[in-house]
Amino acid sequence: MTHDIRNIVILTGAGISAESGLATFRGPDGLWEGHRVEDVCTPEALARDPVLVHRFYDERRAKLADVQPNAAHEALAALDASWGDDLLIVTQNVDDLHERAGARRLIHMHGELRSALCVACGKAVSWGDPLPPGSSCTGCAAPRLRPDIVFFGEMPYRMDRIYAALEQADLFVSIGTSGAVYPAAGFVQTARHAGAHTIELNLDPSAGSALFDESRLGPATLLVPDLVRTLLS
Ligand code: NAD
Ligand code: ZN
Repeated sequence: MTHDIRNIVILTGAGISAESGLATFRGPDGLWEGHRVEDVCTPEALARDPVLVHRFYDERRAKLADVQPNAAHEALAALDASWGDDLLIVTQNVDDLHERAGARRLIHMHGELRSALCVACGKAVSWGDPLPPGSSCTGCAAPRLRPDIVFFGEMPYRMDRIYAALEQADLFVSIGTSGAVYPAAGFVQTARHAGAHTIELNLDPSAGSALFDESRLGPATLLVPDLVRTLLS
């Protein structure tokens, strides 16, 4: 499996952070920390009830202080540190556990809890405190900061860079994602089309399992260190 692999793209989702104590999105009940997607993850929800939406992300941001990267985040950071050819970790997660484990070649395609976005000037600033509606931008001073989260219906970040990496990939690995949210759910097809070997690591079979060359079921803290050991051996 590993003899002719140079360029690697890794997609991660909420499942990689589950064993750190962060709830996944859809889960068995289809909710994110008790909230319906429509109520906290859409531009319409933000316009309708900014206090609720800001508070929801404030709670998620505050929770980051109580959790630690797990063995799966650490294994990917170690792979990033020692893989000489191209490697890109694309996460759908808005938590900061990949970077706290030490990953450097990382894209947060759906935004970050520890970032605030100015609706007036488009600038993103790092943000660790609660972010009430009406908070002022440190760049243009407009009182229009919102959570820097890509909502449903909005364009994920850095898609050009992500597709460029997928086009060059020899190996594509999807970890802890349900394969229900596009465009990320379609990355496996782009990678396959480019000739990559494709592997899914997930607790349960995902919506897209059949699209992968290999699907390994189990917890990320076991499967990811195993795969990284193989790649580095
Ligand atoms: P999802 O919640 O839809 O799916 C999670 C997947 O992970 C499931 O298929 C589940 O079987 C699997 N899983 C659960 N525990 C696992 C484990 N221990 N090891 C391996 N796999 C495990 O997540 P998604 O596909 O990433 O989509 C959710 C969206 O919600 C994302 O876009 C993200 O922005 C957001 N979200 C982020 C976080 C976070 O940042 N930690 C948490 C919840 C939701
Ligand atoms: Zn601004």
